[in-house]
Amino acid sequence: MEKVVICQICGKNIAKYSCRLCGALVCENCYVKEKGICIRCAQGKFI
Ligand SMILES: [Zn+2]
Ligand SMILES: [Zn+2]
Repeated sequence: MEKVVICQICGKNIAKYSCRLCGALVCENCYVKEKGICIRCAQGKFI
């Protein structure tokens, strides 16, 4: 079995990053690199 982690937000792409706020494993599309958080956290609060 391969250890492929699927993005916890979109559920489509391979998760390469983890949100430093909520710890969610997310893909490139669902990650805000400048802030190191997922788009879900980025939408919830502006840091
Ligand atoms: Zn995603
Ligand atoms: Zn998050």
